[in-house]
Amino acid sequence: MEKIRYFDHAATTSTKEEVLKEMIPYFTLNYGNASSIYSIGRKSKKAVEDSRDKIAKAINADSKEIYFTACGSESDNLAIKGVAYANKERGNHIITTKIEHPAVLNTCKKLETQGFIVTYLNVNEDGLISLKELEEAITDKTILISIMFANNEIGTIQPIKEIGEIAKTHKIYFHTDAVQAIGNIRIDVKELNIDLLSMSAHKFYGPKGMGALYVKTGIKFEKIQDGGHQERNKRAGTENVAGIVGIGKAIELAYENFDEYNEKLTELRDYYISQVEEKIPYIKINGHRQKRLPGNANISFKFIEGEGLLLNLDMKGICASSGSACTSGSLDPSHVLLAIGLPHEIAHGSLRITFGDDNTKEDVDFLVNTLVEVVERLRNMSPLYEDFIKNR
Ligand code: PLP
Repeated sequence: MEKIRYFDHAATTSTKEEVLKEMIPYFTLNYGNASSIYSIGRKSKKAVEDSRDKIAKAINADSKEIYFTACGSESDNLAIKGVAYANKERGNHIITTKIEHPAVLNTCKKLETQGFIVTYLNVNEDGLISLKELEEAITDKTILISIMFANNEIGTIQPIKEIGEIAKTHKIYFHTDAVQAIGNIRIDVKELNIDLLSMSAHKFYGPKGMGALYVKTGIKFEKIQDGGHQERNKRAGTENVAGIVGIGKAIELAYENFDEYNEKLTELRDYYISQVEEKIPYIKINGHRQKRLPGNANISFKFIEGEGLLLNLDMKGICASSGSACTSGSLDPSHVLLAIGLPHEIAHGSLRITFGDDNTKEDVDFLVNTLVEVVERLRNMSPLYEDFIKNR
């Protein structure tokens, strides 16, 4: 069995030992319900509030502006539906982009069946929205702009501060899905004029099944799940105390060596891209070259299928992705790659590599050498490549 080399940190990360260590007592010794008044309940409540403080501190928010959820998808649902339902008297128009994660896109699609009107902004070939098009899309019925901080497939980072300013000027709420950005980009919700922000612990070495939503004080939003009064009546369900402790510890650790970690990812990413450019012909780098997540490299290898590439890499112990984790499994090309204008056949040959703390330069060398061999082998089996070479 080959050693596993994991290059899919945008899909998920391992839970750090230190995180797990802090979580375990809340499963075993201190399992009290955070709403109970006896000692182990009060201890749980304290752990929940400590974690809320840590998350608030990381994004320069107030603790009472943080709500715990079960994942990034739930945070997106709560933000978008919560604002839409609570503000429907003011208007029924929402603006988002064509490259959002399905957690946002499908939430918006659902709202369209309930009388809301959604504008899906185009992006350019780098995956950036146009601020001018955003302003032009605003109507007197617009209540919410939901634009992701950084794209999960191509890594492009949107002009969040400028979007926030536009939203503020027009008195429209601004939600950003920051699931891929937390831990990789420093975020100050006040400076960036962000009203609502989604995050998910398993993208920054925390546990799966744990998310959080920041909602600025004064924003009108409704709960979307009926039940008890937890999370100040906005998110019913007995608190997942261990998970909450985990997300708090994970964000604290992420900020402890933030710069060092992200410099390392940037170096690995740039080294990988330069090596591929040097050693493999007929490729295309997707996403913005500078405004991109430190650990993301998305490259299309012309004349081959991403799935074939993934299977061959897997045989060498390499874990990577041909699209977003949620859409691979379907044979349709990624909606993000199509939105940046890639033809179907080029979108199909794309490989997303996302680096993390367990990767080394030697891992990148192994990855590139494997790619050189596999890409050549797959191209030699491709009739399209044969035609291309003949007609060159
Ligand atoms: N938003 C983005 C940008 C993502 O990349 C993901 C997961 O890949 C999600 C939302 C959903 O997060 P979760 O898996 O925690 O539901």
